[in-house]
Amino acid sequence: MRLALALLAVGVLLPAQTRSRKAHEHGSAKVNIAFESAKGAPKGVVEFESPADSVVGFEYEAKTAADKAKVTAALNTLKARFGEMVIFPAAAACAMTNKSAKVEADDHHDAKSKGARQEQHSEVHAGFEVACAKPLSGLEIRFGFMKVFPKIHDVNVALLIGDQQLSADVENDKGVLKIAK
Ligand SMILES: [Zn+2]
Repeated sequence: MRLALALLAVGVLLPAQTRSRKAHEHGSAKVNIAFESAKGAPKGVVEFESPADSVVGFEYEAKTAADKAKVTAALNTLKARFGEMVIFPAAAACAMTNKSAKVEADDHHDAKSKGARQEQHSEVHAGFEVACAKPLSGLEIRFGFMKVFPKIHDVNVALLIGDQQLSADVENDKGVLKIAK
């Protein structure tokens, strides 16, 4: 667990990391999953990142009560239904716990676009812990992003589990991560 967390923190997981600055692409999202082992009762973490447009519906800073309520509702949906978006195999009996979920302004390109029409972008970041009762070896992780947030149609998923490193480009919820035995 500690190893997986460390790798996640350093960004070792991600080929996507190199793309991450370009990665603010509406309709796309990123998921990083890390488990120390597929055996025993695996414990791991899942990180989710998406332009706020797909989750909240807008990217400007929420200032009115109505907009703030929309942000809260969207994050609550994300937290409550994340298990439908990243679907762990039933046979492993995994439970997910939300650790964080927030909207962050994406201001990396502000400096250059001063004067020009300035578009505001923001991203949703969320983190979950996963605890499985049974091994994940030989099982599959599936996805259902669009059932919850219809705009999320292209997701880059990276999985580090034990010494296996897997990735999938999940388009329109199609894509599977098969964990070796
Ligand atoms: Zn945007």
